Amino acid sequence: MASNEFDLIARYFEHQKVNRRDVALSIGDDCALLEVPDGSQLAVSTDSLVAGTHFLADADPALVAHKALASNLSDLAAMGATPAWVSLALTLPSPDESWLRQFCQGFFALADYYNVQLVGGDTTKGPLSITITVHGFVPKGKALTRSGASSGDWVYVTGNLGDSAAGLALLLGEKTVSDPQLQKTLLDRHYKAQPRILAGQALRGIASAALDISDGLISDLGHILKRSGLAASIEVDKLPLSPELCLFESDRDKALQLALGSGEEYELCFTVPEQNRGAIDTTLAHCGVKATCIGQLRPGRGVTLIRADQPLDWQLYGYDHFAE
Ligand code: ADP
Ligand code: MG
Repeated sequence: MASNEFDLIARYFEHQKVNRRDVALSIGDDCALLEVPDGSQLAVSTDSLVAGTHFLADADPALVAHKALASNLSDLAAMGATPAWVSLALTLPSPDESWLRQFCQGFFALADYYNVQLVGGDTTKGPLSITITVHGFVPKGKALTRSGASSGDWVYVTGNLGDSAAGLALLLGEKTVSDPQLQKTLLDRHYKAQPRILAGQALRGIASAALDISDGLISDLGHILKRSGLAASIEVDKLPLSPELCLFESDRDKALQLALGSGEEYELCFTVPEQNRGAIDTTLAHCGVKATCIGQLRPGRGVTLIRADQPLDWQLYGYDHFAE
């Protein structure tokens, strides 16, 4: 960016509280120099958020920052990895310092919470977009991949589903609610999802496969099925719905459909072999996270929705950026 690119970097990005011992060299040189612990693999993931596609250009910058970093941390959570470092590529239409100040406040609040250090990035001029790369550690061979599931494994999700879609509908004015508290709760669930970092780590050695729900349960579960070469039966009436979602959408079937399709939930969907089921509740209770069994894997392809042992013919689609 123009002349004050380096001022901006120095002013906003170089003064994080977190100062990790595994960072030998941080922001300011051509590269960061980082130490991966012995016996660990490095887990790396990148996500981009583009104004107009993933957030509204006039959205609260602190919330946008939270969402951008949370969606990246959620990918680490889904691998069972422990977050360590992050880099940030920012494209800004102008050096808007008020925007940057608020963005950094949201970004560093979440980064500090997880002891994640910002170690580099890039700052350029152009249409507003945010690209974040996170790095984390996972003990060698212990990562939770999408391909490890077997027929007979049970399908679980953490938390509740559908709240993020409800929050988005409110944000876009597609629907209104009269209770301001309900409105705030659902908007917060959309913007302020908490990545399931501790749950992901706790599931290492227990879950056979895992991913985070970013495009909607049906679409994301499809990735596990494809990678593992299996089909799933999902009992729709077992889907965990929050009381707020049920107030937002009083037609229960519509609420269930929201839960099945809602993206940006950042809950984990994971599969568990029968012999590990007993361990689930206690393990996740230690992290303060609820897990609900919603179905089972079987030979075949695709997801079948089930109610009272009968297949349902609901037409549902996840989010696909390139869909017509
Ligand atoms: P280069 O020209 O070598 O790409 P830059 O001038 O882009 O270097 O960046 C200078 C330093 O500031 C580098 O260490 C880079 O990682 C860091 N940096 C630039 N933008 C950001 C940002 N948005 N967040 C964190 N670090 C940044
Ligand atoms: Mg650069």
